[in-house]
Amino acid sequence: MKNKQKTLSKTDYIQYLDCPEELWLRKNKPAALPPVDLDRQYKLDQGNLIDDFAQQWFSDGCVIEDWAINPADVEFQLKAQNGNMLAITDIAVRQGDAKTIALFEVKAATSVKKEHYHDLAFQRMVFEDSGYKVTATYLVHVSKEYITSKEVDHCSLMAIEDITKEVEQLMEDTRATAPIVLEWINGKVPKKRITIGCSKKQNCPFVQMNYPELPKYSIFNIARISKAKIKKLVGANILDIQEVPTDFPLSANQRQQVAIAQEDEIVLKRGSIRRAMKKLVYPLYYLDYESFSFVVPPQAGYRTYQQMVFQYSLHVQAKPGGKVKHHEYLLKSKTESVEQLLKDMQLKIGESGSVIVWNKSFEKGRNTEMGNLFPAYGPFLDAVNERLFDLRVPFQKGYYQHPDFKGKTSLKSVLPVLATEVSYDDLIIQNGMVATIKWHHATDGRMDEKTQAETFENLLKYCKLDTLAMVKIMEVLLEV
Ligand code: SF4
Repeated sequence: MKNKQKTLSKTDYIQYLDCPEELWLRKNKPAALPPVDLDRQYKLDQGNLIDDFAQQWFSDGCVIEDWAINPADVEFQLKAQNGNMLAITDIAVRQGDAKTIALFEVKAATSVKKEHYHDLAFQRMVFEDSGYKVTATYLVHVSKEYITSKEVDHCSLMAIEDITKEVEQLMEDTRATAPIVLEWINGKVPKKRITIGCSKKQNCPFVQMNYPELPKYSIFNIARISKAKIKKLVGANILDIQEVPTDFPLSANQRQQVAIAQEDEIVLKRGSIRRAMKKLVYPLYYLDYESFSFVVPPQAGYRTYQQMVFQYSLHVQAKPGGKVKHHEYLLKSKTESVEQLLKDMQLKIGESGSVIVWNKSFEKGRNTEMGNLFPAYGPFLDAVNERLFDLRVPFQKGYYQHPDFKGKTSLKSVLPVLATEVSYDDLIIQNGMVATIKWHHATDGRMDEKTQAETFENLLKYCKLDTLAMVKIMEVLLEV
């Protein structure tokens, strides 16, 4: 029996432009793909929220430039199908008769992106081919300038851009590409190839299916390696970093990374480490924040997607070799003010001593923003910024290089190599993105009391380990 032909939607079309192989797997072997993870679900939830706001806005009747939209002309999720091509538009606005429409695509992004033009070009093609006249295409997105107040104000939250011209320019290309995509999803398993320039390689099911032997430490892990060099190595069938020839052209840093891997050698620049450590001033304050970024921030004064600090962890060591003391604070609801956290932190961080962080641009940025939002804490946060010591820098500068870092300098790559006595492996929450999402879930009413209390406990453990990890790494550097 002949297989039923698969349907091509706008989402499929966009995915094809991004990665044809991933689309083929999703349409033909969905079980091979990982389930929708927390991160993806979190983005989908924000998209759905913005869809709801946009629907409310159009239902109330909004004005675009001089066009006052009549709610009676608005239709949500209007569907068109031409053969195996299917388009469901977020919002259609009728103009005169039922078959003359303007299309509106809603996105939780803060600006128009290339894929949005393709998305609307695909929709326009399907609608036109099934008998509609499409007069214009618009993108409804979130305004960058939006600042949360008590009530969500749709007019200032949403922005509309007329992208009719840009979409028009893509129509010919879309009409030529869409049948190819349809053929692709209904075709045989794609040929084996290693795509260049995608960061998912180690976890991509397509690559795993075709290259089960792709080594854990591969040429894709070489820091800042160009696509051209990757292409050359793949062409020579070299995937393992161990097999990169000694005469293959690489930058000095890349060559050093490869040599360290191949010779299984540790590089230790003792003089440079010593000079860096001399800048430390006791007491040492090891500080880490967890933050929440959401399309509509929960507290007044925050911009769209602006990071809102909801937790800090602090380990304090008063003198060299002395005991470390731990402090922490976690906001337990979305309405508890960040000011409470600052008030607590100010009591724990004294007026002198280095404030140690991992990747200082993050903490520095949050401190500046919090200082602007809560001016009473501005001088304190400015002083903390003046005293920041970035513990990642000695690793970024190559003062300490280890083959097991695999060319990375994140806390999660360095800690398991230098301090095996502490580990993230036993924790329920093991990274910052999961911490953000878990805090969101623990404070939006979806959890029962017990699960919420456990989640808060897990968040505290996670953030505490981030600062303890820095204490342990510092001990190693000071010994050096
Ligand atoms: S690694 Fe290749 S096949 Fe996998 S998602 Fe990236 S581009 Fe697609």
